[in-house]
Amino acid sequence: MFSFRRRSAVDRLVQGYRQFRRTKFLWKRNLYKRLTKGQHPKVMIIACSDSRVSPTAVLNTGPGEVFIARNVANIVPPHDPDAAPRSLAAAIEFAVKVLRVEHIVVMGHGRCGGVAALVSHGRGLPETQYLQPWVDIAAPALDLLPDESSGMTAAEVARASEYAVVKLSLKNLQTYPWVRERMEGGKLSLHGWHFAIFDGALVRLNPDTDQFEAVPV
Ligand SMILES: [Zn+2]
Repeated sequence: MFSFRRRSAVDRLVQGYRQFRRTKFLWKRNLYKRLTKGQHPKVMIIACSDSRVSPTAVLNTGPGEVFIARNVANIVPPHDPDAAPRSLAAAIEFAVKVLRVEHIVVMGHGRCGGVAALVSHGRGLPETQYLQPWVDIAAPALDLLPDESSGMTAAEVARASEYAVVKLSLKNLQTYPWVRERMEGGKLSLHGWHFAIFDGALVRLNPDTDQFEAVPV
């Protein structure tokens, strides 16, 4: 008998899989077959876990094209082999040493709850054992805020903080000796990007001006 029970969020995913299997997977069947031999992405993307900013959706990438690590607020902790957590460092090491990617993109985004938790020191959030200590790794980003930040609106401070976390993550990436080595050998470039959810705008950090500049569409 027909049921009026609403489909659960997980049922939606299974339905999405079925659709994928009948369409995109079939269209790219040969590519998927080739990819069983190994992956050779040229780009690693470090992005936020936020459900609204999936890099594969925003950047329209296909299978095998980008190696992605996502975490709350797209934070790269500085090199410190003795410290936990190591999850992201392992992903970076795999991308750089094994996959030998040529680019690492740190992709921040607008309305980032992780960056907001950093800026507000967790105000309005439940007490957390992992979340706040994690975002606090990016506390030095607050030192990168522009001098005029005290006169900014809350929205402007939020955006400047999101930019600052991207810049800090790029700085921290360069503390990994093997990242530095490949950069100095001209084999690896770092990029700082930011995707604004509201208007879908993507901006890129220009290393010459230290400013984020819009990507024309
Ligand atoms: Zn975020």
